Amino acid sequence: MKKVISIYGLAAAGKTTQADLLAKKYGFYQFGMGERLRAEINSGSELGKKIADTVASGLLVSDDLIIGVLQNIQKPAQETGIIFDGFPRMVPQAELLDKIMAEVGLEVELFILLDITSEEAEKRIAARAAATGRSDDQDKAVVSNRLEVFRQESEPLIARYEADGKLIRIDGSQTIEEVFAAIEKHLN
Ligand code: AMP
Repeated sequence: MKKVISIYGLAAAGKTTQADLLAKKYGFYQFGMGERLRAEINSGSELGKKIADTVASGLLVSDDLIIGVLQNIQKPAQETGIIFDGFPRMVPQAELLDKIMAEVGLEVELFILLDITSEEAEKRIAARAAATGRSDDQDKAVVSNRLEVFRQESEPLIARYEADGKLIRIDGSQTIEEVFAAIEKHLN
């Protein structure tokens, strides 16, 4: 399925879980921004060094650095379609994505918002912190920054995709299977 899809929502809303399922079933190329940034940091590259402090504090990495991890996405997007999770996270990133995709005649078709409350996010992050040891899940101040970034950036971003008729809002507090079924209804 050659679509360009973005999954968005609070930290621990289930973005990567659903992107994994969609990529497996439909063959999309998967691009998880948080994962890519963590991989870049772990690689010890110059770019990784520049983004490490920002990711560790739970704030958003600046667009000039984000561009560095977005290299080479046009070809897989054309070949298999692409599913982004955690990108775009603010309006300028949505504009950047539009520009990159337009260069190869593609556009974002669906912007899927997995809706959970910040209380639910905090609960899930605490569980994930214990289960995986992910470092930006451990510290209360970092978690609070991540939730605050969402509060600040989500409204205009969601409004933009809603105005374009691309927004799909799904209750992310449902089971993984229920959320996946709800997403699938919008794919065809
Ligand atoms: P995630 O794995 O999606 O929870 O993202 C983890 C962290 O990576 C975030 O708290 C940010 O520091 C950074 N990050 C992820 N996606 C983006 C993005 N689209 N723009 C800037 N920074 C991001």
